[in-house]
Amino acid sequence: MPAIGFIGLGNMGGPMAANLVKAGEHVLGFDVVPVSREASARDGVQIAANARGTVENADIVISMLPGGEHVLSVWNDIVPVARQGTLFIDCSTIDVESARKAHRLAASRGIATLDAPVSGGVGGAKAATLTFMVGGSEHAFARGKPVLERMGKRVVHCGEAGNGQVAKICNNMILGVSMIAVSEAFVLGEKLGLSHQALFDVASASSGQCWSLTSYCPVPGPVPASPANNEYKPGFAAALMLKDLRLAKAAADSVKASTTLGAKAARIYEDFAQQGHSAADFSAIIKLVREQSENR
Ligand code: NAD
Repeated sequence: MPAIGFIGLGNMGGPMAANLVKAGEHVLGFDVVPVSREASARDGVQIAANARGTVENADIVISMLPGGEHVLSVWNDIVPVARQGTLFIDCSTIDVESARKAHRLAASRGIATLDAPVSGGVGGAKAATLTFMVGGSEHAFARGKPVLERMGKRVVHCGEAGNGQVAKICNNMILGVSMIAVSEAFVLGEKLGLSHQALFDVASASSGQCWSLTSYCPVPGPVPASPANNEYKPGFAAALMLKDLRLAKAAADSVKASTTLGAKAARIYEDFAQQGHSAADFSAIIKLVREQSENR
């Protein structure tokens, strides 16, 4: 049976590779960190000696790495040993320019590619309920979709190479801005004597309704499953939100798009990170809003 190569077995890649194994796939994986390799081996992933070793007998190779420089470096290494007709799928969240560079690099050797960043976090990776936002040709998408469906519940074709990354940063820019807006509303309400529950009951059924409020409320109480009820443990770490807002800002600068609120949100999350809160859930940004309100 042809194998699926999987490079980057971290918080996301580990459970994603495990779900492929559970679905009956033969997965050949690699990570530079020994504990990640050991954890994936326990999940039934066959561990290769290096990244190249995951590629030689693979029809499909998936990468799930920290950033654009890692993806380009790994793909530079593995493209020369991949068979023509192999499909490479990068599921990392990276800058649009690197994603398109990676597509061109692989295409020059007859390798089909998809960029397929995800939303849904570690919980979604474990439960195989991720959403994949996919860029690449119709043909490559048709080949990759069944494999992605083994790791997620929604697979959306967003158009040409790089467009998966475009969709991801646009979505997360909305998310970062809306979480700050919701946090500001709760802090303003607090200062004016409005209870959290009253604001939630009104706004969740009114025009202020949004995911940051109704699914991921930044105050404890109204949405029992939100990280606010669990000491703001992630969830989706503030460091990752900052990463995505920076990617959105860089992309906006590259095409001269005016994203005033997105850029401001990036600065707010930078301040939060400088205070040492990178590991907290991104909804903990309400603490910064509250603190700044107290210092006014
Ligand atoms: P992670 O740091 O846990 O995993 C990345 C893995 O890549 C690590 O295990 C690291 O050792 C490995 N790696 C780095 N360089 C390598 C190389 N040259 N060869 C082989 N392995 C290498 O990060 P993560 O949380 O799994 O995130 C992965 C990607 O998914 C990131 O781009 C992130 O932005 C994105 N993402 C993460 C989340 C989340 O909630 N964690 C949600 C959505 C998207």
